[in-house]
Amino acid sequence: MGKKDVCKMSIIYINYGTKLQEITYEIMKEANIKAGLNSDMTIGIKPNLVVSRPAKEGATSHPEIVEGIIQYLQEAGIKNIIILEGSWIGDSTQKAFENCGYSALAKKYKVKLVDTKHDNAIRKESKGIQLNVCESALAVDYLINVPVLKGHCQTGLTCCLKNLKGCIPDSEKRRFHTLGLHTPIAALNAILRPSLHIVDSICGDLSFEEGGNPVVANRIMLGFDPVLLDSYGAQLIGYDPDEIVHLRIAKEYGLGNYISDETNIIELNSQNRPLVNIKANPIGSLLSKYIEEDSACSACYASLIYALDKLDRYKGDRIKIGQGFKGKKIKGLGVGQCTSGCEQYVKGCPPKASDIIKILENL
Ligand code: SF4
Repeated sequence: MGKKDVCKMSIIYINYGTKLQEITYEIMKEANIKAGLNSDMTIGIKPNLVVSRPAKEGATSHPEIVEGIIQYLQEAGIKNIIILEGSWIGDSTQKAFENCGYSALAKKYKVKLVDTKHDNAIRKESKGIQLNVCESALAVDYLINVPVLKGHCQTGLTCCLKNLKGCIPDSEKRRFHTLGLHTPIAALNAILRPSLHIVDSICGDLSFEEGGNPVVANRIMLGFDPVLLDSYGAQLIGYDPDEIVHLRIAKEYGLGNYISDETNIIELNSQNRPLVNIKANPIGSLLSKYIEEDSACSACYASLIYALDKLDRYKGDRIKIGQGFKGKKIKGLGVGQCTSGCEQYVKGCPPKASDIIKILENL
């Protein structure tokens, strides 16, 4: 790994917005992704289509993000693009392709859909574990991982690392659970090393992989180190990175670094983040009785929702959040830089749920 790569590995690009195709194209342009491509490459795009539910429900990757990726790649002269995924056991990938908008996308851009459930499996050895991996994922020259940042009932978080589970056959998915899930996820990531990760943090679910409780943040992130992105994602949704076992193991395996002061976060449009629409957040509406909101960015509000959900019952005064509090001297607790005039406030713009939890626990 050269000096340039070391630099690249420590960057997280972030873009906010509701025009998903546009913000994806923009973020790839900003990161100058085409510099690492050549037109002979076969590029694989791996979204999260774990279930056959539309992206707005919080489980699956938005097709508009994948559309922005395809548009960027085709303009860069890439002709061979495949979208590969295998839904979880018991769900049909074909149904997910259809219901989540991927069949239409494939037709529009003439790209191939590969259902990894029907793929050949290749035996690989990683970190002392034998794993069966889908041939299509191994065969591409450049793999783009497009996970959803969301909660998970077993692993706490699912994002870049866990998303690769769609690149193994169903029989292997079952075996992963018998192997304890965390270690094989990390070992799989030592085999399949995606060249690029574009994280869908538009409306990932609060706590379940299968969606149903979306928390709208209107954010996408781009990076090259899955450990870095997942550790940042963990903090955004209220965890210490070490609490996510497969993430800790991936770091121990040397697959990347946690977020730190060395991380370079590049935000493309921090002045133009979409504001929260509380009604679009079912759980946000439920928790709004604890919150005094005035023009809060959706990403800021999302962090507060993740934090409040993790504290069993919050009993304090209503928490201030939003740009409407900027420059005001106010009693009580605020969340985010805009509330720096509060008696106490959580730093960050947007703040991380893990930082909000630390303050709320000590009130
Ligand atoms: S602190 Fe930042 S993210 Fe939060 S409402 Fe203010 S400007 Fe938006």
